[in-house]
Amino acid sequence: MGFSIPADTEMALRLGVFAALFAVLALWEWAAPARAPRLSRALRWRANLGLAVLNTALLRVALPGSALAFATLAAEEGWGLLNRYAVPDWAAVGLGVLLLDLVIYFQHVLFHSVPALARLHAVHHADPDFDLTTGIRFHPLEIALSTAIKFAAIAALGAPVLAVLAFEILLNATAMFNHANVSLPAWLEPWVRRVLVTPDMHRTHHSVIEAERNSNYGFCLAIWDRMLGTYTAAPRGDLDIGLAAWRDTDAIATLPGVLRMPFSAR
Ligand SMILES: [Zn+2]
Repeated sequence: MGFSIPADTEMALRLGVFAALFAVLALWEWAAPARAPRLSRALRWRANLGLAVLNTALLRVALPGSALAFATLAAEEGWGLLNRYAVPDWAAVGLGVLLLDLVIYFQHVLFHSVPALARLHAVHHADPDFDLTTGIRFHPLEIALSTAIKFAAIAALGAPVLAVLAFEILLNATAMFNHANVSLPAWLEPWVRRVLVTPDMHRTHHSVIEAERNSNYGFCLAIWDRMLGTYTAAPRGDLDIGLAAWRDTDAIATLPGVLRMPFSAR
């Protein structure tokens, strides 16, 4: 498909969606928080947003182009399933988004099951509170590995440029939404979580209880957890968030602390 988008437009679009959604969710969290925070928000946000800024800067320096540019290259070179077969454009975009989301589901399972990867992913789970900034709190090495997996998936699937753009925006948006310290209205929530991961569904994934943490892996679509048997409807008791072994503020809520976390034995 001959669709392409200039890098500046892509950056403006992604930043615009991020800023607008951040403002809306922050306001919603302030007006109707689902849980009282354990730590001060000023402290946690410095670490979480610090990681997000650092990751964005590192990706800009390390990568010659975005995932979108890579999808354009894959289309030009005819790489991947969807570029090899005569799939109609609309179907290729739909399948591209769906399959990229499935790849992210499996990547998340991997980051819970391989010990070395789990040490990196622990930075995300050690957040003692759960709000929209938890959704962008990842160790730079986890971001590097997940970016490599995403690029490999784009090449293997031959995901169209439009699918990659839609997926990148959708994944950023849903990751912030499903980590928000809010709850959808009780009448609406069960309906939404049939399709999309809701904050109440994903909050269970941040439980200190391992069995609950090893469930609800989805970031965008809720269907994968239901289909693949990793769905937990609700926590068993009062939900406690974070990692039991990581409770000291210096280690989990400062930028140097979270950067060091994967390399400290615990
Ligand atoms: Zn996780």
